[in-house]
Amino acid sequence: MGLKIARVPQPRVASTIDDVRAEVSRARSARKRIGVVPTMGALHEGHLSLLRAARATCDFTVATIFVNPTQFAPGEDFEKYPRPLERDLELCEAAGAQLIYTPSKEMMYPPGHQTIVEVQELSLPWEGACRPIHFRGVTTVVLKLFNIVQPDVAFFGQKDYQQQLLIRRMCRDLDVPVRIETCPTIREPDGLAMSSRNAYLSPAERARSLRLSQALFLAAERVGSGETDLAAVRAAMQAHLEEDPEIAIEYATIVDAWTLQELEQPQNAMVAVIAARVGATRLIDNLLLPPFDLARLNAGAP
Ligand code: AMP
Repeated sequence: MGLKIARVPQPRVASTIDDVRAEVSRARSARKRIGVVPTMGALHEGHLSLLRAARATCDFTVATIFVNPTQFAPGEDFEKYPRPLERDLELCEAAGAQLIYTPSKEMMYPPGHQTIVEVQELSLPWEGACRPIHFRGVTTVVLKLFNIVQPDVAFFGQKDYQQQLLIRRMCRDLDVPVRIETCPTIREPDGLAMSSRNAYLSPAERARSLRLSQALFLAAERVGSGETDLAAVRAAMQAHLEEDPEIAIEYATIVDAWTLQELEQPQNAMVAVIAARVGATRLIDNLLLPPFDLARLNAGAP
């Protein structure tokens, strides 16, 4: 009896808008539900979990890999951001992407490009305050990717909490017919949230960086056990980070999950958020505080 070798269909790699549109419209004509996972590459389990979520709920999964220059300020890590393209393509394929879009900088921003998409209030605090041009770069490129791919659903990580909230707001405000699905933060076994930027950490910094997730778990524990003085919880989070003099806090607090306003008293929808530098590497992390959870977030605004 001959050995049957299952033929796994190879994903298509497209670098032009026309190619993406042709592939997606073929899938759409076959009544397939289209899912997109926008990434900057340097893929890890966090990204792969989004691709798997897309594959589980959609019939045609598009991964995009684009290190978007407009979301990096001068002096940030745009040039040194890791770009292991061959490995990324293999990982996308293994995670079940049917189409991988890898546009060039010139293709996304041809000469003369001058339109930006800006979500106003929600982009001001926290990440927006620390990285003033970051979010308009993100919302601009995400809307462009949505217009190119025209997905039914787009998958984002909870890891970038403020980012997914802004994208939800953008879709509502601009009547973009894409459902946003936010998926859980994938962590290393010791609690560190996975991030492409973890590769910048020296072994000593890697050990120090554990304090971010520890501070979040500490906040969840305090609030979960009935603490109502959120200023005290905030102080405890900050004290835990400050115990290591090599950690520079940018913010560490508890906010309203929908408005991102800092809270003094507990309420239904809360998120603990942290940004800190460990050496030269800037890390962010967050934790949803029960009863708030991803099911409520994905159900939409309160
Ligand atoms: P990036 O390549 O950093 O732009 O991230 C692409 C997507 O992956 C974003 O939606 C991120 O929120 C998501 N992501 C990044 N890290 C994680 C993680 N540890 N767990 C889940 N999703 C993540």
